[in-house]
Amino acid sequence: MALEQTLSIIKPDAVKRDLIGRILARFEAEGFRIVAAKMLHLSEAQAQGFYAEHEGKAFFAGLVDYMTSAPIMVTVLEKENAIGDYRTLIGATNPEEAAPGTIRRDFALSKTQNSVHGSDGPSSAEREIAYFFAESEICPRD
Ligand code: UDP
Repeated sequence: MALEQTLSIIKPDAVKRDLIGRILARFEAEGFRIVAAKMLHLSEAQAQGFYAEHEGKAFFAGLVDYMTSAPIMVTVLEKENAIGDYRTLIGATNPEEAAPGTIRRDFALSKTQNSVHGSDGPSSAEREIAYFFAESEICPRD
């Protein structure tokens, strides 16, 4: 299997509840290597741009409000099959449907306030990583 990178976001509900360290520890415990990290507070335009594929949907305005409500932590995670394995680790969008042991099942508050984001495929991973990080900010190692 190929070494992949995926974009993770620790979302506002988790940052507000001081869960950053516990969630980052879960990533590392599951074999994901953190190769880039930053904390930022999204502007409305940044949140709209990141979630542009959902523009026009009923939940879009609420999603943008939520994503701009507090800081987030964005990381690039590296691992073999990182994209798929990370989606498995975080679980279904709705925490009530997320499998036991997943991050969303353990921490998320609702379908909107669901604690973490993960890229859903190779092209979105590439776009999302570039949305937040310059090449020089990504630090892979042996
Ligand atoms: N979302 C929401 N209501 C919905 C669907 C999604 O508030 O009915 C939010 C939720 O925070 C989700 C994000 O929009 O994580 C992006 O939705 P997507 O369907 O891409 O889910 P994900 O890939 O994050 O599981």
